[in-house]
Amino acid sequence: MNLFDTHTHLDEPVFDKDRIECVHAAYRHCVRRVMLVGYKASHFERVTLAAKQIESAKRRVVAIPKVHMAFGLHPAFISQHTQQDLTSLKNYLGAADALGEIGLDRYTLALQDKQSFCKQLDFFRTQLDMAQDFSKPVLLHIRKAHAEALREIKDLSFNQGGIAHSFSGGEQEAIAFAELGFKLGVTTQITNPNARKLIRAVQAVGIKNLVIETDSPDMLPMQLHERGKLNRNEPKNLCRALVSLAQILRIDLEELADVLWKNSFEGLKINTQSESRPGALHS
Ligand SMILES: [Zn+2]
Repeated sequence: MNLFDTHTHLDEPVFDKDRIECVHAAYRHCVRRVMLVGYKASHFERVTLAAKQIESAKRRVVAIPKVHMAFGLHPAFISQHTQQDLTSLKNYLGAADALGEIGLDRYTLALQDKQSFCKQLDFFRTQLDMAQDFSKPVLLHIRKAHAEALREIKDLSFNQGGIAHSFSGGEQEAIAFAELGFKLGVTTQITNPNARKLIRAVQAVGIKNLVIETDSPDMLPMQLHERGKLNRNEPKNLCRALVSLAQILRIDLEELADVLWKNSFEGLKINTQSESRPGALHS
């Protein structure tokens, strides 16, 4: 069984002490590919270094997933982004498989502020244009702004697709994103039986339009939350999302894993045959 963790932040300092052990553990839990996602220009180099560290460890530890990278300017950090950051982003895109995470976020009062949301829209449009120019799919972060995000994607005739990461919209929005060529990113939140909105969205779009992700170190699976011991999520927990999803969709685990694996490559426009090229990482 092969799994693709389509959204991780393994570059976070919380993984500095045991990053290699962590990806090795993920490999033992069937994770064969991981997508490292940058969200702030000041962290792009950190993402690159983490990816290089993992790739170079392959010489010692064979059982390690292949790493992919994405870079983008995240809407929740909008107050920190500058025009210079957009230039920096362009310089990193050559080594990236996707542009993200980008999007619109209305979760907090500060983000709902008119000025903040205008800047979010401005950066979202610019980054969608950039992804279109570079023919890259995008990783979308959208909270409480699904209708607006859909409108922007349509208005700009953006057609590179990608992943609507950690999807939190409703059934109709889920279907609309799928129709625009996006896969829905399902996190380990799906392990929570009370996540009814997510369960309905997943059932509405069906197996062909889904991928899974841990968003680690965030989104601790429910069972681990309850134990209260762990303070971070890890790529090895990805199989928990798979198991819950298989139960919800009433489908065989291996069959589901196979479809999700193919969906990940399709959504990220990655050639299944592509081999690791550490030299291609940004230096
Ligand atoms: Zn993220």
